[in-house]
Amino acid sequence: MATHSDQYWMYQALQLAFKAQKECEVPVGALLVMDNEVISIGWNRSISCHDPTAHAEIIALRQGGAALKNYRLLNTTLYVTLEPCIMCTGAIVHSRIRKLVYGATYKKTGAISLLTDIMRYASPYHKVELVSGVLANKCSAMLHHFFRLRREQKKKLKQFLRISHKID
Ligand SMILES: [Zn+2]
Repeated sequence: MATHSDQYWMYQALQLAFKAQKECEVPVGALLVMDNEVISIGWNRSISCHDPTAHAEIIALRQGGAALKNYRLLNTTLYVTLEPCIMCTGAIVHSRIRKLVYGATYKKTGAISLLTDIMRYASPYHKVELVSGVLANKCSAMLHHFFRLRREQKKKLKQFLRISHKID
């Protein structure tokens, strides 16, 4: 079987991001791949799990370790739709994955474009191969759409509260 491309796997990660969106979580999806096979998947679940660490990447890494019965996820590639935050970047380096592929860069919370050396500082013992910008437009469009909807919902809620206050 032919080895699937980074784009192929990023499309799968986008499907997982969509699951997060349906659950009203920030739409980020991640999956861990080894030898052309999915080892584990994750999507943001911080709100539903009441867990600030339940980012898509952390969930995929934890499940990946359980699936491989190894805390070192050697020879795996992690695909994630959004540039990882500082917490996830630390976990990624400690997991010793071989390669990280992400879609959209995110200046607000993304750790990699902000601190180019963060992966080196997280651990001097392991170097992760990095690919960025895979399906970047699709990945960032999903986030922009989500945040725009959320802003509109907040605006509507404020208007509603203002009106109902006047009625009272
Ligand atoms: Zn994160």
